[in-house]
Amino acid sequence: MKHQFGRFGGQYVPEPVIEALRELEIAYEAAIVDESFIKDYKYYLKEYVGRENPLYFAANLTSRLGGAKIYLKREDLNHTGAHKINNAIGQILLAKRMGKKKIIAETGAGQHGVATATAAAMFDMECEIYMGEEDTVRQQLNVFRMELLGAKVVAVKEGTRTLSDAVDAAIKTWVERIDDTFYLLGSVVGPHPYPSMVREFQKIIGEEALAQIQEKENRLPDYCVACVGGGSNAIGLFHAFLPYEEVGIIGVEAAGLGVETDMHAATMAKGREGVIHGMNTIFVQDDAGAISPVYSISAGLDYPGVGPEHAYLKDTDRATYVSITDEEAVKAFLYLSQTEGIIPAIESAHAIAYVMKLAPTLSKDKIIIVNLSGRGDKDVQAMEAYIAENEVNIVQKEKI
Ligand SMILES: *Cc1c(COP(=O)(O)O)cnc(C)c1O
Repeated sequence: MKHQFGRFGGQYVPEPVIEALRELEIAYEAAIVDESFIKDYKYYLKEYVGRENPLYFAANLTSRLGGAKIYLKREDLNHTGAHKINNAIGQILLAKRMGKKKIIAETGAGQHGVATATAAAMFDMECEIYMGEEDTVRQQLNVFRMELLGAKVVAVKEGTRTLSDAVDAAIKTWVERIDDTFYLLGSVVGPHPYPSMVREFQKIIGEEALAQIQEKENRLPDYCVACVGGGSNAIGLFHAFLPYEEVGIIGVEAAGLGVETDMHAATMAKGREGVIHGMNTIFVQDDAGAISPVYSISAGLDYPGVGPEHAYLKDTDRATYVSITDEEAVKAFLYLSQTEGIIPAIESAHAIAYVMKLAPTLSKDKIIIVNLSGRGDKDVQAMEAYIAENEVNIVQKEKI
């Protein structure tokens, strides 16, 4: 079997899915070298998503922390408020090119479902979103958002009725309706070609950041930092910087209540190699190799696995993975809001929290780029509840 990232990746799926992936791979490889396809993709990124977004020098955060210069890549300013739309636009354009009429996607927290429903509305495609029944209850507002964008939300009642079951249901439906249906996967996970394809549609983040830092500082950054759920915003930032060995690459996972507890989503810290969702990668598992339940305050980071390219980057020591607890992330959420007037997504707050530890240890001539993968409007209610319940001081002046 062909593995795209060292021994990681592959296509661990039944025969009918292999055929569907083959059709996708052929179409994708032709599209990605076709100038008119790339031109269309760039057109919608500019006119619809609002790229390029700024690489913002966080002067207040930098001086408060007293160390390295911190730049924020502002994916939160994209239409729909996060990086996920970059990928949704790319894959929908591919679906159109393949002559497909319907889009299906899986979603956990609902953010990928919303990005997909948004792009489907704009490109006039029929759209069905598979979501674990449990998640449809927890994420009612996102279910309604998808519906008001014209999508149909299918509540999956199998298994634990969460994201993993939604993935299985979406793949099953895809194979049954392959003639007219395109499966739009939300992160750099799953069987080949998805991890490579999603990276291709997210690498714009790092390409812009590289050009922007050259213009502002006339040099490379010392570190690139991003949060890791499946790993798409992180790979999107990292990709352009990987050839430069002097740039430190740091992925930040969710430690939930702590990696020493059972309540975390720290795949790299606690997981082992194995096959999950069609790929060979690292995931958190029990002694028998079954997926362990994961937990994080951040719905976008509580995925039990990680994209195979991240497993490879860790295995080859090109990237380092660290983890941040709920408590640290909430403090960073408040700290960034109050120092810069930017309310980050709680996912992105994990990356900010790590930067709050890293920056003070570095001299003032060092540079960190951190990916602000999304905005925090969606998290405001949950933060209010967390702050009340845990008696967190809402005014944050302390460094982490
Ligand atoms: C979904 C999401 C993530 C996690 O997904 P990745 O594929 O790891 O990027 C991170 N940040 C935000 C704002 C998200 O919506």
